[in-house]
Amino acid sequence: MIRVVCPECGEQFETDADALFLFNRFYCLACEALLEVIEEDPLVLEAIDEEYYESEDEPENDWADE
Ligand SMILES: [Zn+2]
Repeated sequence: MIRVVCPECGEQFETDADALFLFNRFYCLACEALLEVIEEDPLVLEAIDEEYYESEDEPENDWADE
């Protein structure tokens, strides 16, 4: 288990190391925010707006972002 800090609520919790791969998503145990791994080394988590992703119907265009 690896201790991570939720970017949404700041709580520390432990999660399985196997879950910490790039772009994997899991829920914060404290605030239930949906988090995504955006960097593996060093580990960076980002809170995801779940409703936004639920309505997503286009293929991902990461390169077109920004
Ligand atoms: Zn949280």
